[in-house]
Amino acid sequence: MTINKELLDILACPKCKGDLELTSLEDGLTCRACELVYPIREEIPVMLIEESYTLQDWEEKKDTQS
Ligand SMILES: [Zn+2]
Repeated sequence: MTINKELLDILACPKCKGDLELTSLEDGLTCRACELVYPIREEIPVMLIEESYTLQDWEEKKDTQS
């Protein structure tokens, strides 16, 4: 796993510059303030607002995958 605590400390939400939380499956980074999830693709966090999902879309995406 490449997303460790130190990396998480460095990364910030590109929108509000706030702290991010790893999702439970460690496949995304959540900004609670913006209610956005930035996906982690091939172990690289995609820190782009236009690539982010709303929390709701993220949950729905997971439902369709399983
Ligand atoms: Zn944010």
